[in-house]
Amino acid sequence: MQAYNLLINGRLVPGASTLDVINPATGEVLAVAPRADAAQLDEAVAAAKAAFPAWAALTMAARREKLFAIADALEARMDEFARLLTAEQGKPFADAMGEVGGSVYMLRILGALDLPNKILREDETQKIIEHRTPLGVVAAITPWNFPLSLLIIKITPALLAGNTVVAKPAPTTPLTSLLLAELTNAILPPGVLNVIVDQNDLGGLLTKHKDVAKVSFTGSSATGKKVMESAASSLKRLTLELGGNDVGIVLDDATVKDVAPKVFASAMVNSGQVCLALKRLYVPDAMYDEMCDELAVLADAAVVQDGMMQGVQYGPVQNKAQYDKVRALIEDTRSEGKIIAGGVPHEGPGYFIRPTIVRDIADDARLVREEQFGPVLPVLRYSTLEDAIERANDTTFGLGGTVWTANPERGLEVAMKLDSGVIWVNQHLVIHPDIPAGGSKQSGMGQELGLEGLMEFTQNHVVYMAK
Ligand code: NAD
Repeated sequence: MQAYNLLINGRLVPGASTLDVINPATGEVLAVAPRADAAQLDEAVAAAKAAFPAWAALTMAARREKLFAIADALEARMDEFARLLTAEQGKPFADAMGEVGGSVYMLRILGALDLPNKILREDETQKIIEHRTPLGVVAAITPWNFPLSLLIIKITPALLAGNTVVAKPAPTTPLTSLLLAELTNAILPPGVLNVIVDQNDLGGLLTKHKDVAKVSFTGSSATGKKVMESAASSLKRLTLELGGNDVGIVLDDATVKDVAPKVFASAMVNSGQVCLALKRLYVPDAMYDEMCDELAVLADAAVVQDGMMQGVQYGPVQNKAQYDKVRALIEDTRSEGKIIAGGVPHEGPGYFIRPTIVRDIADDARLVREEQFGPVLPVLRYSTLEDAIERANDTTFGLGGTVWTANPERGLEVAMKLDSGVIWVNQHLVIHPDIPAGGSKQSGMGQELGLEGLMEFTQNHVVYMAK
């Protein structure tokens, strides 16, 4: 078994204790990870605080060079990272290669962003200049569905802007973050990036810490609320990327055979464990039976197994707690709707759940109202488009949504009525690193990606200079 270490102040160190990391495809221990205690968290924050002035004093170009060097180093070790990602997260190896390759791409695209000083006004009497200055120590807290790319989305703009970072991955997927820590340690000055691991017990201390200036958090809405509470004590800057219950609406001019495979893929990708995955689908009465049948055929044909196997489409659910949660939702659904594909308990090791399609389910069923974050899709029928839009918006979430139609302009009209941070027409889950994204309502606060995402790691600093 490979040994993993925390990264604190430029040193790869063991944790105060350890935790077992489970391979979700086998249910067996994959590796023993170091687990930090509160004292190590304090050390990590202190190291980041001490490293901040020198890092912030570098030019953005100098910091960018380091980020590009990380991109090159990661690219050179893609296969190793992807294997580890599949082993700890469960996703098919091809998808893991996609996540690692996407991380390299994001390091390069986000790392190339710039925030030059802006002259806001100038005349004979005065000049007004805006600078964007870094904030200090950033806490980067990530979930287990995309352990590597979601961390890269945070640390790239945070470091580029001149902040230093203490990163804390989810306890069930710490290994790729720790491998990244080791890789970056050969490139970054000590203390600029620190990586600690917990057992879901240090997040509160980190987000409350007096020397943390900003929290960039991705995770559930429930934890996001706790983060907001603990950040209040020192009015920390916050970016919250939270849960979603993304809606798909099929318009009556769409062709079921064309749309069904795309809908299926956007609901089941990463075994449904994507914040922006399609989580409920509304279909017009006239096409309802055909759409349900098509989706059921696709679900029955899906290849679900260990992500390292050839030809696999979907791996296991990432951890036992999420597996139990999704299984319980499926059991609830037996009395609330009709399961037409999947839904059978898995026999053998690993946390596998086959793609499950549910029809004839009420709007107030848990599977419709809550975020399932697993491979289970409820299909709901509608009679009028106005009714579908109203039901689509009747949720506390507002992360993403999709409209499927033969007429993109009509799709755009519907998209304008959906209350959500991102809406796609005739495509889903397309994300460009230079385009900002963020949730509405309880799906989040602030933006990631793009120039707006970079600005979230800065403070505006305006100088009025009399001439
Ligand atoms: P989670 O909220 O349980 O955990 C996320 C992270 O928060 C983990 O690192 C966890 O250890 C940490 N944490 C736990 N308690 C904390 C506390 N009190 N203070 C601070 N941090 C704490 O989420 P999860 O189950 O790991 O991830 C799934 C959720 O993440 C889903 O709701 C999904 O939609 C959401 N998500 C959102 C986005 C997005 O961009 N909007 C992306 C991916 C996942």
